[in-house]
Amino acid sequence: MSNKPIPKPTPETANFWSGCAAGELRLQHCTSCGHVQYPPRKLCSGCFSQDVEWRRASGHGKIRSWSVVIAPGAPGFEAEVPFISALIALDEGPTMLSVLRECAAADVEFEQPVEVIFEQRGEQYVPYFKPASTT
Ligand SMILES: [Zn+2]
Repeated sequence: MSNKPIPKPTPETANFWSGCAAGELRLQHCTSCGHVQYPPRKLCSGCFSQDVEWRRASGHGKIRSWSVVIAPGAPGFEAEVPFISALIALDEGPTMLSVLRECAAADVEFEQPVEVIFEQRGEQYVPYFKPASTT
């Protein structure tokens, strides 16, 4: 039994987390200016409009930067280390901090295509990424 913290949805993030539980990454799109944002907010961070709507994202992106974490930064992650913390430039525009799975640290490359996967944690599903399938 892991004692990793379980995300607690807020009114702004509830749709994000229900998307993760449904196996889809969701992002907010502003219908006034077209800006796509992450993390979720009440207002568009581009034009401050309240006209933001949720859309399913592709779940694909590219690695912008990464780091191998060798010491757990918070209680509950002792069994996780070492892991690869990565900044993912999502195809829709926003950058997301996540963890790269199914890839050795020596094999990570700048701009490497990745795709989202979800791992259950308590009653929530947390987005992680893995190298994109090559088909
Ligand atoms: Zn906007």
